[in-house]
Amino acid sequence: MRILVVEDEHRIANSIKKGLEQENYAVDVAYNGDDGYDLAATEDYDSIILDLMLPGMDGVKIIESLRKEKIHTPILVLTAKGQIQDKIKGLDSGADDYLTKPFSFEELLARIRALMRRPKIAVDEVLAVADLTLNPKTFEVKRAGKDVLLSNKEFALLEFLLRNKTRIMTKDQIIGHVWDYDSDILPNTVEVYIRNLRNKIDLPFHNKKPLIQTIRGFGYKIG
Ligand code: CA
Repeated sequence: MRILVVEDEHRIANSIKKGLEQENYAVDVAYNGDDGYDLAATEDYDSIILDLMLPGMDGVKIIESLRKEKIHTPILVLTAKGQIQDKIKGLDSGADDYLTKPFSFEELLARIRALMRRPKIAVDEVLAVADLTLNPKTFEVKRAGKDVLLSNKEFALLEFLLRNKTRIMTKDQIIGHVWDYDSDILPNTVEVYIRNLRNKIDLPFHNKKPLIQTIRGFGYKIG
């Protein structure tokens, strides 16, 4: 499997390359947008890891141009914190997934593996359980047809639970996937966010079955 990394911060680019190579991926790196686009358009990659803020062509422009050229290589976008809301439109133009910096390498790997499992032409994926839906691309969450507004972390937590629905997720698994290495995690952080989520997706729908379940001594599951 061959991956292109487009990232102008050499330290990040090189550590991604090194980490991926240890996992037996073949990795090319471009340190600016123009080189990144040229490589992505001419070489055959299984997936592309793309920073958004780049010298030369920026990430969103690269995605739009590639998709216009009917190049459907899966793209994982890297964004700085807070950039994501501004970039939804750009992401809608054809990125397949995104990851907020700083990120854990483990999560990057998991997302890359998931991307490569998908068919080459990505379809809009909406995660759902019962009457709750979450669209990872548009960040829309609805229950019983009503919009539910979540913070970034609540969204990430719900997405993680939905991607693992019917399985019990421990607090450690949740922390490992939803929070990055640099976050300050208190012992009750997960409980606090689970409570927030319940207040938004279960409590207002009191005539329906609660979706988030606490499995005492183990963790949480949705469904
Ligand atoms: Ca950058």
